[in-house]
Amino acid sequence: MYKTLEAHIRQQVAPAALRAEFRQHEFEAMRRFCLLIFCIGIAIWLVFDLIVSYLGGQGFTWLSGVFIALLCSLTVVLAFTRRSQHFDVLNLLFVTVITLAMRLVIEGIPIALRPVWLVLGVSTVLYTVSVLPVRRWSFFCAMGITWVMLNPFFHTRIEALELEGAMLVSYAVCLSGLVIYSYLRIRQAKLHNFYLTKVLLEQAYIDALTDIPNRRSFMAKAEKQLRQAGEQYLAMIDIDNFKQVNDRFGHDIGDEVLKRVAAHIKAAMIGYEIARLGGEEFAIFFQGLDETGAEQQVARLCQRVREDLGAHPVTISIGLARIDSGDTLSTALIRADQALYEAKHTGKDRFVRWTNRLASES
Ligand code: GH3
Ligand code: MG
Ligand code: MG
Repeated sequence: MYKTLEAHIRQQVAPAALRAEFRQHEFEAMRRFCLLIFCIGIAIWLVFDLIVSYLGGQGFTWLSGVFIALLCSLTVVLAFTRRSQHFDVLNLLFVTVITLAMRLVIEGIPIALRPVWLVLGVSTVLYTVSVLPVRRWSFFCAMGITWVMLNPFFHTRIEALELEGAMLVSYAVCLSGLVIYSYLRIRQAKLHNFYLTKVLLEQAYIDALTDIPNRRSFMAKAEKQLRQAGEQYLAMIDIDNFKQVNDRFGHDIGDEVLKRVAAHIKAAMIGYEIARLGGEEFAIFFQGLDETGAEQQVARLCQRVREDLGAHPVTISIGLARIDSGDTLSTALIRADQALYEAKHTGKDRFVRWTNRLASES
């Protein structure tokens, strides 16, 4: 099952909206990691700057202070960044500043050592950017900036056509190719996983026939709402004489009727948790409605279904139960079911509100 779904997802192109959702999700999940990377970047640069400044005999200049201030400011901005597209730009700024800062530190070491340190710098920055949650344009711009700022042929007396130069060019091509390939593959794999998880979650929580939440989804959401303050009611709905619809017109027509009733519930109950509990039973969780409000809602729903004189008209019965503080969801479901039973036995096509009398009768 997993493999079939996975293969199906792999063949599909993820829609633009899903890609945007994925980028935002990934950034939120990796924000702390990005902060860590920024801090480590600053720390490593500072250590090298101090070594070159003091062991190299140049002293710590005001420029170092400016770079530290800039890098720290960008890190603070990252701590407050919430949108992935803002991080795309912020990361580019960080790469620009830190590669410039690296270039200045490397300019302070003997010229023969510079190419090696420039290439080490490029490798580190490129690898790091390839694992960050940035979009393609941001990744490729960061790559370009890094190679420009830390160009090993600038200020190093190395010629591309000489032995060392040719080796450097080959290394640059291999490194760039490898980093681009791993960046694209990792992004694609993560996007597929995100897509697959979404599809599986939807299948687990949405009823396939009526396209509204299923019992599992309802229980989880209602349990959560139960902990909130305010008046709460639970309604249980059952289609009247539904078996006759199946028997007279067939199962397919029965399914159409189920879909139509679900569509009515969905349209009439915007803002409330609804679900198909199973078979031809549905539920609604009313949060923040008083008794009159809840009764009006269910009465209107009965009327709406009754007045839908489409191909195969049906009616519904509803049991309504107030949820008192301390009640569990299963208590509320039992009470709504008792009220529903009463609605069925007093004529159907109506709602009945649960009272203590119904509990003692059952
Ligand atoms: P009442 O008014 O007392 O509720 O009578 P009823 O006929 O609706 O009640 P009953 O529970 O006896 O019948 C429910 C029927 O719903 C039985 C079953 O065949 C049918 N059913 C359950 N799930 C589905 C489904 O997914 N599609 C279709 N077409 N029928 C379903
Ligand atoms: Mg039933
Ligand atoms: Mg029924």
